[in-house]
Amino acid sequence: DIIIGILALQGAFAEHQAMLQHISRKGHLEVIQVRTPEELKRCDALIIPGGESSTIALLARLSGLIEPLREFVKTKAVWGTCAGAILLSQAVSNPKKGGQELLGGVSVTTTRNGWGSQVESFEAPLEVRGLRDADVPFMGIFIRAPVITELLPAPHEPPIEVISRIPDSLLPHRTTPDGDPTQTVVALRQGRHLLTTFHPELTGDNRFHEYFVQECVVASLAP
Ligand code: GLN
Repeated sequence: DIIIGILALQGAFAEHQAMLQHISRKGHLEVIQVRTPEELKRCDALIIPGGESSTIALLARLSGLIEPLREFVKTKAVWGTCAGAILLSQAVSNPKKGGQELLGGVSVTTTRNGWGSQVESFEAPLEVRGLRDADVPFMGIFIRAPVITELLPAPHEPPIEVISRIPDSLLPHRTTPDGDPTQTVVALRQGRHLLTTFHPELTGDNRFHEYFVQECVVASLAP
């Protein structure tokens, strides 16, 4: 069996677990909540949920999980949603006052709450490359979502594959931090890692969870 962990320190971890349990009947998946280094050690892959990135980082530090998580990211598949995407990014342009720790692993810079406080939350139908029934839009739920402000050069890492952007039709109503039209990436892959700035676990649509299991987890375990 493949064991997928959900980092369960704070945020929307129960929702991720429910989505995975929904698809796990088809395969041989075990899904566990991770709060300790021992639990992390059992996992073949990990999901870091949305919530508050600085709180998750602080709780991970207090649980002795920061260094084990950094090591985990170096060899195993990890998916970060929203706050989780911030934790997986290499840099954050506006860290919480007093600083916040990151895990890194994905060659991007993110900006927290980057879509502006006046539009903290919105939904957008997304086209996502590689998803099952890719012609059916995936409803992106953005809650104080980060913006991926920069894709960083990473000659020694797998290439970044952008799999979804905010649709053009929404852009007149949404402004990125720099008003930069290239800052519209909302989902990407880099090797076995997946980043989404929105919350697929809050929809009834489990295609993203299937995608992570098949394209990132199973692919990373193949000999
Ligand atoms: N704004 C949050 C952060 O900075 C992320 C919000 C979310 O995960 N929905 O971590």
